[in-house]
Amino acid sequence: MMALLAFNYNCSTLITDTYKDKGARKQLIRELKTKGIIDDKVLNAMLKIPRHFFMHKDFRNHAYLDKAFRIGEGQTISQPFTVAYQTQLLCVEKGESVLEIGTGSGYQSAVLLELGANLTSIERHEPLHLEAQKVLKFLGYQAIFIFGDGSLGYPKNAPYDKIIVTAGAPVVPKALIEQLKIGGILIIPVGDGKTQKMHSIIKTGLNSIENIELNDFKFVPLIGEQAWL
Ligand code: SAM
Repeated sequence: MMALLAFNYNCSTLITDTYKDKGARKQLIRELKTKGIIDDKVLNAMLKIPRHFFMHKDFRNHAYLDKAFRIGEGQTISQPFTVAYQTQLLCVEKGESVLEIGTGSGYQSAVLLELGANLTSIERHEPLHLEAQKVLKFLGYQAIFIFGDGSLGYPKNAPYDKIIVTAGAPVVPKALIEQLKIGGILIIPVGDGKTQKMHSIIKTGLNSIENIELNDFKFVPLIGEQAWL
């Protein structure tokens, strides 16, 4: 026991990525392909990242099912298909500045970081904000994590090449469009508390956007100053 306490002991070191986990991950990637995910960069990133590290150990056996799971504070880690779908739409290139609203477990952050994003991620629940950072640091990823209201964006690091919102917004927050570069992309689910439509919004000029409405999803709500109807 003394020896254990003598070095920087970290609970994350108790989690391992076994052959069984890796096999289950391969199977999940095959499933995502059959569901229409075609971007190899996204699929390879998800093949590499141990999703079970971002979930409570009681759900470890469910980590490679295509399902959302509770992560505490009434929130969820997004379904893998949803993560893949949003990431594919975001078209992240290495070195691009990306703003993520809703860090949650940090799993989506890991996918963006694996793709080479220069990431700023915001979460409004402090325990999630702190836990996600621990796991991502343990896995060797670096990003800027902000505890606060992401509906206001994060002007300090703006403008962004890409913005992704991982909670259902009743409206598109104006601040997010303002903080996007011209030519930048915002991926955001918009709708009521029951269902939302994924929107892909391209900022075409200082005061113009092109807004494409896509499939239906069901997210936990975006709660914040610019998330009111
Ligand atoms: N991407 C996350 C993952 O992979 O685990 C999923 C996040 S969960 C579906 C949505 C997250 O958005 C929740 O953690 C919630 O607390 C957060 N959220 C909701 N409104 C927010 C806001 N205004 N600012 C920051 N985070 C917010």
